[in-house]
Amino acid sequence: MSMTAENVQWPPSLWTAQTPPSPDLPVLQGSLQADVVIIGGGFTGLSTALHLREAGVDVAIVEAMEPGWGASGRNNGQVIPTLSRPDPEDLIARHGAAGERFVAMLRDSASALFETVRRYRIDAEHEQAGWVQPVHSPGRIKIAERRFKQWSKFGADVELLSRDQTRDMLGSDAWHGGFWNRTGGHINPLALARGLARTVLSLGGRIYARSPVIDFERRGDRWVVRTVQGEVSARALVLASNAYSGEFSKALAPAIAHEVMPVLSWQMATQPLSDNVRKTVIPARQAMSDTHGELYFARYDARNRL
Ligand SMILES: Cc1cc2nc3c(=O)[nH]c(=O)nc-3n(C[C@H](O)[C@H](O)[C@H](O)COP(=O)(O)OP(=O)(O)OC[C@H]3O[C@@H](n4cnc5c(N)ncnc54)[C@H](O)[C@@H]3O)c2cc1C
Repeated sequence: MSMTAENVQWPPSLWTAQTPPSPDLPVLQGSLQADVVIIGGGFTGLSTALHLREAGVDVAIVEAMEPGWGASGRNNGQVIPTLSRPDPEDLIARHGAAGERFVAMLRDSASALFETVRRYRIDAEHEQAGWVQPVHSPGRIKIAERRFKQWSKFGADVELLSRDQTRDMLGSDAWHGGFWNRTGGHINPLALARGLARTVLSLGGRIYARSPVIDFERRGDRWVVRTVQGEVSARALVLASNAYSGEFSKALAPAIAHEVMPVLSWQMATQPLSDNVRKTVIPARQAMSDTHGELYFARYDARNRL
């Protein structure tokens, strides 16, 4: 796919087909000032801007294409309040007090997201139905037991599921048990990104779209971020360009771009499933992703596609 900002071509997907368009956003032109400039309008950039606006900070996002164009508008929308591998005690053993703060943030992260969505009335097909991690081999039941023990100790709303409970929850006897976090769930990720963009605008933040940043530099005590048609000078800079850091400009952040290794991941959607099928297949509509290294994951969307 060509990476030209003039003509934003969204990759065809379930999310692009069923999500209302992005708000109208200007291209960055001329020389502007802000307290904080953010490169990239995915969840990282948008959430940072929202929280800065809540604190009264003048903020401008400069996005190469449109909000959610990167991973934020292309993912499975599972809201998962854990990390893939490390559990709380691993994080604290390695990072001490910072690890403790991070564990508390992770524990509350799903609820914080759903509260933000409710508070700002973001219409993103969100469902706080819980997140389940079924265990795909008998040996891996230890992962669920360890997770349950550690997250219980740190006050998370979690449960260890037997084989029978997992079968009833997911409608399949392929699993050997599971770990359930009640605060997780799922959301239409592109609708979330576009909703966050609308919220940032409503709070007085600025977002420039179709404006790839060429490079940034320190001038005196300020950061200056440059595009073909304009620049933003700010006291602070947040680089939130993620895996796309090398796509629009080789000069943006070469050290980050060199760390990126492309990996393909497949996602498919069924036709909407009947009420009858949904009585047995994940009847309570949790999001699920299993213990495979390359995980298998599933969730319903708002139209009952799995
Ligand atoms: C297939 C897949 C499934 C996933 N499933 C889940 C899931 O179910 N749950 C979950 O929590 N996470 C999931 N993730 C991970 C999640 O999508 C990412 O962690 C998250 O979206 C990262 O957000 P971000 O804002 O950091 O980056 P991105 O959303 O990638 O945003 C980076 C932005 O920077 C912009 N940019 C880049 N270069 C420039 C430039 N030079 N100038 C201006 N802008 C620039 C890009 O256009 C892009 O919009 C999944 C990821 C993938 C790929």
